Amino acid sequence: MHLIEGIKIHHDSLIEWRHDIHAHPELGFAEHRTAALVAERLAAFGCEVHRGIGKTGVVGRLKAGHSARSIGLRADMDALPIQESNGFPYRSKNDGRMHACGHDGHTTMLLGAARYLAETRNFDGIVHFIFQPAEEGLGGGEAMVKDGLFDRFPCDAVFGMHNRPGLAVGKFSIRPGAMMAGGAYFDLVITGRGAHGARPESGIDPVLVASHVTTALQSIVSRNVKPIDTAVLSVTQIHGGDAYNVIPQQAVMRGTVRAFSSETLSLIEANMRRIASGVAAAFGASATLDFRIVFPPLVNDAAETEFIADTAARLVGAENVNRAGNLVMASEDFSFMLNVRPGAYIQIGNGDGEGGCEVHNPGYDFNDAILPLGASLFVRLVERKLAK
Ligand SMILES: [Zn+2]
Ligand SMILES: [Zn+2]
Repeated sequence: MHLIEGIKIHHDSLIEWRHDIHAHPELGFAEHRTAALVAERLAAFGCEVHRGIGKTGVVGRLKAGHSARSIGLRADMDALPIQESNGFPYRSKNDGRMHACGHDGHTTMLLGAARYLAETRNFDGIVHFIFQPAEEGLGGGEAMVKDGLFDRFPCDAVFGMHNRPGLAVGKFSIRPGAMMAGGAYFDLVITGRGAHGARPESGIDPVLVASHVTTALQSIVSRNVKPIDTAVLSVTQIHGGDAYNVIPQQAVMRGTVRAFSSETLSLIEANMRRIASGVAAAFGASATLDFRIVFPPLVNDAAETEFIADTAARLVGAENVNRAGNLVMASEDFSFMLNVRPGAYIQIGNGDGEGGCEVHNPGYDFNDAILPLGASLFVRLVERKLAK
């Protein structure tokens, strides 16, 4: 590995920063301590600091030379509502909250890059260090974009990185085009007519209708979506009724849809609407669908994917950068930024392992060994993109 020497010598302090953030996890849009810590460090390095972008988001601006060229580097700061099961000394001090997705590590790697770049300034242009809140399903990336992130801090390209358990230390994985699924949540309310449980002829049973709708919805992915366009539709909740002897008036179905293009998400929504209201009508009931796209699909720009993959290859060797990584069915909030700016999102190996090592698991921990590698990649992106 060709790590940057000036980052490697600070490995201990990076570990110290990471453990401190790990011990003090905060949920989305409540990253007050973390944002303050980030802002303080950035200011101490000599960056211009802007706070409160997308509520708790922070942007550090660093300029060298006279070029107007610019680059954005993004990390996420939020934790998850999980009770940590690890016993090490820096385990979460906040009950029911945990850095179980490695955002403590992402934030630390970007801070490490900022410190080095502020010291060396071996580039010509403007770097924006973007620390976003609320990646975990609360729309922090969208909030920053809506708050004028790229109007106030123009970026020719923007890059993000996420650790991936199961991928060996020293390896990266990426793919051009769609890489992670877009996600939608839905609420489907079936309205029938309440009745005595022993006298069904006087009512319209929404529980029976919901059962038929659930089954019929499963024809969308198999019969309406093109077989080569991967998608999933999961009904994850059905609620109806409170008593043994009452046919309820309503039943509520909820669930999630994932797909790799906005067109496929729209196609699924249209078919859900037709099937739900058609099936409900067949039983004399009605259906109303609330379909909300929570994340757009994450789409990597082809040229920027090449660029970050080439940059990673210089650090770890071409054989350790997979440029044809798998599609990921999970969603990622960085997609909001990639929707409006060219850029790319890369996975960095968090190490082999199973079980407790997976993200969102109560036994997960970010691998400190990769802190200098991620920070080195961020630095080289800047030095190559804004080369003197
Ligand atoms: Zn996560
Ligand atoms: Zn994450």
